[in-house]
Amino acid sequence: MMSLHLLPRRLGRLAVLALAPAVAACGERDSLVATGPDAALPMHALGQAPLVLRGTVVTPTGVIKHGYVSIDGGRIVAVSARLPVIPGAVTINTEGIIVPGFVDVHNHVPWNVLPRWTAGRTFTNRNQWRSDPDHLRIVGEPFARLLPSHVCDMNAWGELRALVGGTTSSMTTQPVPCIHGLVRNLDFNSGFYGTTELNREHVFNVLDLPPASDPDARAAFVGAARFFTANPFYEALVMHVAEGTDAAAYEEFAFLQSQGLLNPKGAVIHGIPLGASDFQAMAAAGTALVWSPRSNLELYAATADVGAALDAGVEIALAPDWAITGGGNMLDELAVAARWNRERLGGRLSDRQLLEMVTAAPARVAGVDDEVGAIRAGLRADLLVVAGNHNAPYGAVVAATTAAVRLVLVGGVPLYGDRALMERAWAPGDLEDVLVAGAPKTLATRAAALEVAAVAGRLQPALLAEGTSLAPLAEAAGGAAQASRVSAGNDPAPFSARP
Ligand SMILES: [Zn+2]
Repeated sequence: MMSLHLLPRRLGRLAVLALAPAVAACGERDSLVATGPDAALPMHALGQAPLVLRGTVVTPTGVIKHGYVSIDGGRIVAVSARLPVIPGAVTINTEGIIVPGFVDVHNHVPWNVLPRWTAGRTFTNRNQWRSDPDHLRIVGEPFARLLPSHVCDMNAWGELRALVGGTTSSMTTQPVPCIHGLVRNLDFNSGFYGTTELNREHVFNVLDLPPASDPDARAAFVGAARFFTANPFYEALVMHVAEGTDAAAYEEFAFLQSQGLLNPKGAVIHGIPLGASDFQAMAAAGTALVWSPRSNLELYAATADVGAALDAGVEIALAPDWAITGGGNMLDELAVAARWNRERLGGRLSDRQLLEMVTAAPARVAGVDDEVGAIRAGLRADLLVVAGNHNAPYGAVVAATTAAVRLVLVGGVPLYGDRALMERAWAPGDLEDVLVAGAPKTLATRAAALEVAAVAGRLQPALLAEGTSLAPLAEAAGGAAQASRVSAGNDPAPFSARP
């Protein structure tokens, strides 16, 4: 029987061709093409014994202190205050706070093998730093040279960096057969649609608008974008636009608006120069904002006017952009957002709202809120367990560092966490010890189908040969100065002192 997916997919590919100039990743020039069979099934497709997690559970309707999340067949089957009766279930007393795994809708996964880059000056739009000689030498060119031979390991490392920061779904990888699916890759290998085939996901990323000086390319872009938003196969059109403070950055948003491309499937990533009326237009159209403060502040000394977006009623998701200039992971970005909230927004966002910006809101943005982003029976068991104060669970998660991550599950499979908890689900031989920002953690290597040491062992010499080095899985407290100081509450440099 002909799959319902075939037709839109074929059309989708045509549209992708039309979009080709517009779809190079943030700074990426090469778009790799899938040529072979897909990699092995992602681990979240594997069967597992039922699991029951005990801890303080954060649900959409409130907190259950010392409650239970029951998991079977990769999904949450019950959320309860009392121990459920599930024959054959393994119970893990996490003694932690159980929240949905983070959904990151703005990242550039394979770039995150590279260490942080500090420009030492600011820019007014992204084309400036992309062509900056320092950026090219230190970041852009090593990346471009390594990608063809190391894309699989680069993506795997990026997925590992996401996982140790509590992310269970990420976005913007490469359409190559080896996309791992250690964390779900929403644009190429989410595991949501009964297939691991590439290019069959329901989210489309637009990483660059064609320049205003190329009206033909712009017209092709508009045609393709209208196709994606009109086609019921696609649930989200995520557009990286208006990244900067100048007229050229703003013009991208004005163009989208003039072409009727603000719509309920749309999400605007960045939106730095947008004002109140722009956010009102977005809210009226049902278009969300993806806010990436750390990278924005680093590169432009400015970020989206979140206060105006909140006033207008725009849905806001929070995501790091990439680890090169943004948060090293979602926990880092949360810490920066929390600090911005305190210092610039008068604390109008509650910790609960901040947590929703990395869970339920991005799940809605990506059109996957029927799968993940909340702890509710029927959804996938993509979960994060964090150590912290059970009496203030939202604040504990917002302030958590990677050391506080006790457990991360994707599709009900405990993939990463503290050894004592991981040994409840795995034989010791299935686990690899890893040091993450100085904290001892373990990865379920059999489920992950990779070993951290082996991936690092292939990447490190390749990066050294490029004159750089492999970024750590998570930055140490001193390295992630901004984020960690925020969570420690003793930050000496307020945002206003940034360049
Ligand atoms: Zn980006």
